[in-house]
Amino acid sequence: MEDAPQRSKRELELEIQVLRLERRVRDMEDVVKQQSEALKESTKLLLKCKPVARPPIPHDKKLIQGAEQGWRCANPTGDCPQWLLFDGFFNAAGGLFEADHCESWSTSLRTSGNIQCLCSCCHNAKSRRDRIIALEQQQEAAEAKEE
Ligand SMILES: [Zn+2]
Repeated sequence: MEDAPQRSKRELELEIQVLRLERRVRDMEDVVKQQSEALKESTKLLLKCKPVARPPIPHDKKLIQGAEQGWRCANPTGDCPQWLLFDGFFNAAGGLFEADHCESWSTSLRTSGNIQCLCSCCHNAKSRRDRIIALEQQQEAAEAKEE
């Protein structure tokens, strides 16, 4: 006894697919919003910082590190959009990958054993955090000098 017309299996599959795509669009919109805010913050911080000259990270070291990580972002903040959208894998949509000094170069002055590969979003987020810490340290040092 079925009054309502039964939806076909195909209709249900399509409905599930639509829901999955809607979810994915929301995830991507969240990432775009998050990155827009991050970009504004990075710009403000960059304007406050003096650039520090440092030697480039050798290309072969970047590739070896990327391979050791299985071509996935190291996700240092636990908030990586590549992990949200692509299981962490680097791809053209995320801007491939960038090499980062785990401990910032300005404090460690060391590249060997101190690099990780990040997506551009995580690299920006980590660089922002490092700049904030550096600016706070400069401010503390300036205040200590005044006393
Ligand atoms: Zn990432």
